[in-house]
Amino acid sequence: MNEEPTPIRQQYLEIKKNYPDTILFFRLGDFYETFDEDARTASRELDLVLTSRNVAKGIRVPMAGIPYHAVENYLSRLIEKGYHVAICEQTGEQPSKGLFNREVVRIVTPGTLIEPGLLKNDTNNYLFAAFVEGEKIGISYADITTGEFAVTQIQSTNIQSDLFAEIVRLHPAEILLPEHFELEENGTLHITRQPNSAFEPIRCFDLLKEHFQVTTLDGFGIPENSIEIRAAGCILQYLQKNQPSSLKLLNAISVYSINEFMVLDSSTRRNLELVETLRSYDTRGSLLGIMDFTVTPMGKRLMRQWVSKPLINKKAIQKRQDAIEILIKNGMTRAELRQQLKELNDIERLINRISSNMAQPRDLTALRSSLQILPEIIRLIEPIQSVLFSPEYRILPLNEVLAILQTAIAEDPPATLMNTGIIRKGYSSELDQVHYESSHAREWMANLENVEKERTGIKTLKVSFNKVFGYYIEISRGNADQAPPEYIRKQTLVNAERFITPEMKEYETLVLNAEDRIHEIENRLFFQICSEINQFSAEILLTARSLAVLDVLLSMAEIAAVNGYVRPEISEDQIIDIVGGRHPVVEQTLEKGKSFIPNDIRFENGEIIRIVTGPNMSGKSTFLRQAAIIVLMSQMGSFVPAEKARIGLVDRIFTRIGAQDEIHAGLSTFMVEMVETANILHNATSKSLLILDEIGRGTSTYDGLSIAWAVIEYIHNAPRLRARTIFATHFHELTKLSESLPGIRNYNVAVTEQGGEVIFLHKIVPGAADRSYGIHVGQIAGLPKPVISRANEILTKLETESKNGSKNENIPISQLALFPETNPLLESLQKLDINSISPIEAINILYEWKKRF
Ligand code: ADP
Repeated sequence: MNEEPTPIRQQYLEIKKNYPDTILFFRLGDFYETFDEDARTASRELDLVLTSRNVAKGIRVPMAGIPYHAVENYLSRLIEKGYHVAICEQTGEQPSKGLFNREVVRIVTPGTLIEPGLLKNDTNNYLFAAFVEGEKIGISYADITTGEFAVTQIQSTNIQSDLFAEIVRLHPAEILLPEHFELEENGTLHITRQPNSAFEPIRCFDLLKEHFQVTTLDGFGIPENSIEIRAAGCILQYLQKNQPSSLKLLNAISVYSINEFMVLDSSTRRNLELVETLRSYDTRGSLLGIMDFTVTPMGKRLMRQWVSKPLINKKAIQKRQDAIEILIKNGMTRAELRQQLKELNDIERLINRISSNMAQPRDLTALRSSLQILPEIIRLIEPIQSVLFSPEYRILPLNEVLAILQTAIAEDPPATLMNTGIIRKGYSSELDQVHYESSHAREWMANLENVEKERTGIKTLKVSFNKVFGYYIEISRGNADQAPPEYIRKQTLVNAERFITPEMKEYETLVLNAEDRIHEIENRLFFQICSEINQFSAEILLTARSLAVLDVLLSMAEIAAVNGYVRPEISEDQIIDIVGGRHPVVEQTLEKGKSFIPNDIRFENGEIIRIVTGPNMSGKSTFLRQAAIIVLMSQMGSFVPAEKARIGLVDRIFTRIGAQDEIHAGLSTFMVEMVETANILHNATSKSLLILDEIGRGTSTYDGLSIAWAVIEYIHNAPRLRARTIFATHFHELTKLSESLPGIRNYNVAVTEQGGEVIFLHKIVPGAADRSYGIHVGQIAGLPKPVISRANEILTKLETESKNGSKNENIPISQLALFPETNPLLESLQKLDINSISPIEAINILYEWKKRF
């Protein structure tokens, strides 16, 4: 039997059919309700109670609801789990009959968030789109919370890896891709497929022109028919659909070129732990973690960008160095500036909330208190302004905006627009008049009882209020006949009579309506003020971005001053000359009592490849990474942890370090290693820096050695390459290469032995290592003693046999003793003085042993 669904069900189905892949939050009074499959998903993912609702006679469907005031929390959990949510609100006035009108006001996706509670302060929230055709990749990204909108085009012979590198650099919250394009990734990215029509070139071109109100995009430096238009157009369409109010924030688009930055592929970014560590994906312990001394949210975001894109232009690098240098010299100014900046709020995001009518009263006070600090900041930077900033950056006083905020907004307004008390007294005569009338009326009402008592002489006269009658005068039954004639009788009670007067009702209206009127006027004024401020949005954004630059420069100066960094000399040749270099992260994370041993990295004239041999754990990887990181920091414009450094600009850093990378899940470690090595050999140039750690480890010794050997020869000999290379290896045989290839130098990590103890000095010295000390490392790692002594035995045997040229077949097989001679449990048992311990202590010791062994 087909029953007619209820009207609300019909309305729901009508709306839901447009959002099949999205969870629909359907506003019903104080709740957002979900139905059917959406309800099942929501209840499962959010631990909500799954109930059901009647939608037609005898038909119930699943339902799960969320209180509207707690929606942010639930939204963030769904978005994190990869869902998109359509928010359907009741719109318009409550109709006297029938249903509220309802419409979807926005679709919440990871790349279109604006709720302060759902966003991270220290990272941009990028929406990213890419379109690929032949060997070209068009890329665009936008952050609707800061108004950043940019495009680029990459010419690529390795689409997957180049696109992925850009994705890793930007770390977008959401990626828009056409249906047919497969991106190789490990499933951690949030990809939203868009129909191919969304990338259609003419449509995208027209949309962009219309959006920016221009007839050509040449003014932005974007040629017609260029592929990046298709990516940018897709972003606009996506925002139009999901978050239309954000569109007006994207008031300009910039073109960037990945050629302006040092190229870092995704594995190099990860290996060098630029913005997060390999192990925990945490900023702490990464390069950003130790470099970031910024104190404002916009500075934090910019710092992350600078760390992610080192420059390759000498002038631009030196500009930053000059700024840092002057801030180091002016320590007082630096300290004062940082103190001032600490007080700033997130101006960039505030102005964007104001522009998109999302602001609440306290956003304006946050902007106001930030603007109040500007004159002091401007005063402080005045003498060094030209050194600090390139001409395109400026911190403006924004006096007009401040004046508006100071005269218009109350000192301490309520948090939301639902409450009153937002507008300052004296700003609007209309509002002040209502305030005056209402307080006058309240006063009149408060005095009424005394006035009337006196006038009528009735002692029992009282003025009261209830919800049904409003204000009234009550006189006890005994005195009721003395009521003056103008009193209008309203109600008779057992003991009393209640009256009103026309005058009283007039004042009552003033009192009761005042709140509504104030609310209405304040809201109107608030949005007017927002739009007045919005007139200055370009100046405010420029100021916010300049403050971000200042914050980052201060941060770099601070870390240089605190940690004793020096200004590297930047040159255009192929030099790397670092004296007393340190690893900036390792030096800060060493155990207490240990100090970092500085190392030189001075490529001699003619040196191309440096082969570093040395035991495990002696500091090879640290040394290799340190070289790469000092180069990176230099090209960020930062000072570096060294006594002295001269760096010839590097176009790309390649690393092949360790065996990790779940990005390539499914491939064997060795395969990953070979793929990465191939990539390096194809793409490195003579201006690149190659950091190769243990190439050839993932296969049999002879295979590995042969590959490593051939790779070194190739880098050394191929005319296109000859890139500065630091190569750490276990294969001692490779040190022989220096005899035949003139550009190779051998280095090793110094080791001393004292009384049978092996000590790693962490000092890199010329020459090849003679032993690997692997067994020693096994020992400090806690391998059982019998294993260590047996390994030593085997080693000695192998070594003598290889000296004598005999085969290694007849190493006698020794069985590990079941009870090793030195068992720590036995030892502590033997040491125990049973007579001197109590039963409780004995029990505790037993527990302890149980835990340990
Ligand atoms: P390897 O690559 O040779 O196995 P690592 O570079 O991983 O060794 O270094 C092992 C440990 O030695 C590091 O975690 C660090 O604690 C310490 N170390 C490395 N280099 C230094 C140094 N220059 N000064 C002090 N300690 C160091």
